[in-house]
Amino acid sequence: MTDAIGPPESEAGGILTIDLAAIAANWRALGHRAAPAKCAAVVKADGYGCGIEQVASALARAGCETFFVANLTEARRVRAVAPNAAIYVLNGLLPGTAAAYAEANLRPVLGSTAEFDEWRAFRAASGWNGAAALHIDTGMNRLGFAQDEAATLAERGDNDLGIALVMSHFACSEEDHPLNALQMTCFRAVRALFPDVPGSLANSSGIFLGPDAHHELVRPGVALYGANPTPGQPNPMQPVVALEGRIVQLRAVAPGATVGYSATWTARRPTRLAIVSVGYADGFLRAASASDARPGAEAIVAGQRCPLAGRVSMDLIAIDVTDVPDRQISRGDLVSLLGAEIGVDELAARAGTIGYEVLTSLGRRYRRIYRA
Ligand SMILES: *Cc1c(COP(=O)(O)O)cnc(C)c1O
Repeated sequence: MTDAIGPPESEAGGILTIDLAAIAANWRALGHRAAPAKCAAVVKADGYGCGIEQVASALARAGCETFFVANLTEARRVRAVAPNAAIYVLNGLLPGTAAAYAEANLRPVLGSTAEFDEWRAFRAASGWNGAAALHIDTGMNRLGFAQDEAATLAERGDNDLGIALVMSHFACSEEDHPLNALQMTCFRAVRALFPDVPGSLANSSGIFLGPDAHHELVRPGVALYGANPTPGQPNPMQPVVALEGRIVQLRAVAPGATVGYSATWTARRPTRLAIVSVGYADGFLRAASASDARPGAEAIVAGQRCPLAGRVSMDLIAIDVTDVPDRQISRGDLVSLLGAEIGVDELAARAGTIGYEVLTSLGRRYRRIYRA
């Protein structure tokens, strides 16, 4: 089954294809690796740019029972397509929002005493008995109770607060870093304070740190969407996102002529350019620009890798297609900017960033095709 949104194909400047079957396959593969732990799915930031409703409903159909999002708006969007799922809001309880959690049966991830007390007061006053998670900081110093605060909380022994999950988050799971072992040890100690509550520590890369990182529930995000959770090793995930850009003009440029804003790229030979209607307003990061000093992103044109020429504009990029035979390219053709050959991690590296940013920047002007 294929679903599409956005402009018709003939008018689209770019075509973004999102393979929901590959997302489901990645979720199953990660779950298999983490078993007997259960596998949740992190679908914050519009499902890492892939469409939160489409991703969450595909994963719910695949059997995913637990979702993590960043805020209430995202949580309601997941609830609309996954009526029976447990939905956790990672950024925690904003002041005065407890009733909104109850209204859609959502679970706050409580990370401070202030949040905890507000949630407890709301439960006492309203009679709401829905669940929540506790976030313990084990070394990231971002969100969550400190270890000693967690101990105080455990001693208080409020056993009627519906705490259904104790979680923490790795700071460096994609690297071989000493903090990983420290965080695992710390989390084990914290878990012992709440012996009857399931634990969750691992994000995508954390799953690959081995069984000590798994506990009862793992929380992959980026690997579901095809990014490599094991940098430096072959990518075990299936590609999910394919982006094709449309050639709107082909032009010849003489040696010595410059291309694009600020004239940062100079033709060294008689050059043919394909001007493609995808730009930074579509999330094709400007940091992937090419200059005389530094190469930028690449595209696959008629089966051949071709380099970008000059800066990424708002709506356009230029690709040096001199090495592609003339008869193999025409105005209106599509070139591949992301896909099985050029993955999100490669494009990210060429822009000096990470696959997460490439995914969450994916534009809104493309024709979007969902494959199920
Ligand atoms: C975003 C996030 C995840 C998912 O991380 P990935 O690296 O994308 O797998 C898991 N847990 C928390 C707390 C997060 O913020």
